[in-house]
Amino acid sequence: MAEIISKQISEDGTKKYLLQYEDGIQIETVLMTHAYGNSLCVSSQAGCNMGCMFCASGLLKKVRDLTAKEMLDQFHTVSKDLSEESLITHVVVMGTGEPFDNYAEVLQFCNLVSDPKTMGETLAVAPRHITVSTSGIIPKILEFASTEKRFNLAVSLHAPTNDLRNRMMPVNRKYPVDELVKSALRYSKQTKRRVAFEYLLLDGINDSEKDALALADLLSFEGLDSSDYFYVNLIPYNPVREFGLRGSEKEIALKFYDVLMKQGIKATLRKEHGQDIAAAYGQLRLK
Ligand code: SF4
Repeated sequence: MAEIISKQISEDGTKKYLLQYEDGIQIETVLMTHAYGNSLCVSSQAGCNMGCMFCASGLLKKVRDLTAKEMLDQFHTVSKDLSEESLITHVVVMGTGEPFDNYAEVLQFCNLVSDPKTMGETLAVAPRHITVSTSGIIPKILEFASTEKRFNLAVSLHAPTNDLRNRMMPVNRKYPVDELVKSALRYSKQTKRRVAFEYLLLDGINDSEKDALALADLLSFEGLDSSDYFYVNLIPYNPVREFGLRGSEKEIALKFYDVLMKQGIKATLRKEHGQDIAAAYGQLRLK
């Protein structure tokens, strides 16, 4: 079992844990409370090599991959820490690390945590409540579409054009954004699960009306209703001191949302979680 080194609780109930494994490696895991249940955000690697410009985890280079058992340890450690009547109802592999850079272990974890034989009927999380989030490793998206159980896929998109995305996320130089969206469409068609595109709104970087129109255009396909396959999660940014980046103003965020909706793209404007405890990944370990 992983040891809890520290725990921070936000005003909105978000709990952020710093855990340590037997070899001394420390990772973060975050529990978010929603109206629909408790969602655990699991880390898949200690550190990350993907180098996304807005991410605190990218400042801490990958030390090693986590095993399926270690990811399961995150689940059980937090489960035990909750009061008896509280259960983890949802799992998102969206913490530190690129899950598809550690594909086999992440898939094993998803299979284990959703298996009532391993977890017991009460603790097991249904596959439809498990989401894996990738920065855009296309071959693994296609592989993930063929797994026996159907899990949800989220794609960290954050920019609608190659020019901007190349600057924000180096992975885009290998897997361009239009190909990425096509692979997500294939995933959705094959699994019958709608794919979530995560989009951090960064002040003056990716939040203009032009960006919103370009995003709508990217997600539109002739003859298809994109909302059958995709939706966009607009996310407020938890600032990271080292980067000098700021989240978009509320008015700008609402305008971006309106443009998408008018163009027929289903979007949600996510509530900030745990901003007072710096819940963006890597921030606790950096401290
Ligand atoms: S956003 Fe995800 S993939 Fe990118 S550096 Fe951070 S942890 Fe890695």
